[in-house]
Amino acid sequence: MTAFEDPRPGVLRVAVIGSGPSGLYAAEALSEQGGDSVLVDVIDRLPTPFGLVRYGVAPDHLKIKSMLATLHATFDRPNVRFLGRLGLGAEISAADLQQHYHAVVYATGAQSDRRLGIPGEDLPGSHSATEFVSWYNGHPLGERTFDLSRTESVAVIGAGNVALDVARLLAKRADELRTTDVPDEVLNALHHSAVRDIHIIARRGPVQAKFSTKELRELGELDNARVHVSSAELPSADEDLSGLARAEKNNLKTFTDWADAATGTTAGADRASERRVEFHFWRAPSRITGADSCAMLELADTRGAAGAPLETLSAQLVIRAIGYRSLPLPGVPFDDLAGVVPHKAGRVLDADGQVRPGEYVAGWLKRGPTGVIGTNRSDANETVSSLLEDLAAGPHSERRPIEELLTALQLPYTEFDGWLRIDSAEREAGLTRGGPRVKITDWATLLELAERAELGER
Ligand SMILES: Cc1cc2nc3c(=O)[nH]c(=O)nc-3n(C[C@H](O)[C@H](O)[C@H](O)COP(=O)(O)OP(=O)(O)OC[C@H]3O[C@@H](n4cnc5c(N)ncnc54)[C@H](O)[C@@H]3O)c2cc1C
Repeated sequence: MTAFEDPRPGVLRVAVIGSGPSGLYAAEALSEQGGDSVLVDVIDRLPTPFGLVRYGVAPDHLKIKSMLATLHATFDRPNVRFLGRLGLGAEISAADLQQHYHAVVYATGAQSDRRLGIPGEDLPGSHSATEFVSWYNGHPLGERTFDLSRTESVAVIGAGNVALDVARLLAKRADELRTTDVPDEVLNALHHSAVRDIHIIARRGPVQAKFSTKELRELGELDNARVHVSSAELPSADEDLSGLARAEKNNLKTFTDWADAATGTTAGADRASERRVEFHFWRAPSRITGADSCAMLELADTRGAAGAPLETLSAQLVIRAIGYRSLPLPGVPFDDLAGVVPHKAGRVLDADGQVRPGEYVAGWLKRGPTGVIGTNRSDANETVSSLLEDLAAGPHSERRPIEELLTALQLPYTEFDGWLRIDSAEREAGLTRGGPRVKITDWATLLELAERAELGER
């Protein structure tokens, strides 16, 4: 392990668990504000840092993906290290961390999803957006592969940007994604996709939907797909819309334009291969049916009589994009109802509402799955302010570096140099496709690349 150079006596050791945006913003703030009196270990269960910027953000959103470069810079700081392949609750425990660090910031995001709770949800062909997004983003621990060669109709349930990402990726032709970082196997599956109809199902109306207008409009700009909205689902002419927020007005205008254009033609579209993206507002899924896999989705009218079936859609693939959810970390308090770690200004609270000294939380694990990447910066800053304020109160007993424990337990781990080797192999593969990189998804290959030099050095 790369040891920190000559740490000052009395140096404060801080562990940040999770290398997504919130963990890295926390590490940056700690490094900046703590100066050379603080050493930060950013610990992740994966050998690849950057969390959902790498494994969530859609591959065709190249500008947002390029935030990786900014986040990279955190590891140029002399008092910040990356330790990969160390999962909290798997390889290391909260007690281990307490022993080796003066403070720990939990920033493990939201690794799970919310369920619909309807009959048929467990049929093959019914998936969470977490699974589908992990697949097209090449997450090494994602267990699913998606064969789209016999899937003609897909239902995407949800009215947020993740639903739009999923629908857009399914609507695009494989050649439009060739110059992104999607793994080769994903590109191949999209190349053989039989998808024709993509239904986006929203429980409420077009005004209440959480879509950001920019992402919504992107759907209307696709070469190979046409968007359908029924004007019957839009607000009627006599509704007072003067109190709407700007974003709501913009979304409504986008839907109205699409509804008005329903009879027009889409310039440049190849009609034979054209895909259809259809919005269904005021609908709640009530049942998925099929002999041994998803075939049909029943929808109820959320404005009509309770539970009355309204419509049945053909859907061989049903993807629920109704929210991510954090998982509890062993030994760390968790509010199961809210799906977050309870806190006060980032300080972790126990079941009695008392502060747990030395434990902090940031990001989606702290506030739930909301906001954009930048929201995690102010969120992490609040946590780091609390942490540094507490540590300034001192005094502190010495903490031994974590490498002593890892060596004693013979725990393999990876470092930032290991990520740089993965990065360079992916970039090289990207040259063959004319894109920034091609993701490596195989766990063994990632570890082989990440561990190569470290093994040689030991
Ligand atoms: C599909 C999708 C698309 C998105 N697109 C955009 C977008 O276009 N623009 C935008 O601004 N925002 C987007 N977001 C939101 C953005 O990704 C989040 O705001 C941000 O990633 C949350 O940061 P985080 O650090 O809290 O969590 P994460 O990014 O999830 O990072 C958590 C890290 O913790 C690690 N970890 C998890 N469990 C453990 C454990 N037990 N031990 C050790 N490490 C662990 C994970 O491997 C991961 O690296 C998107 C989100 C999703 C889900």
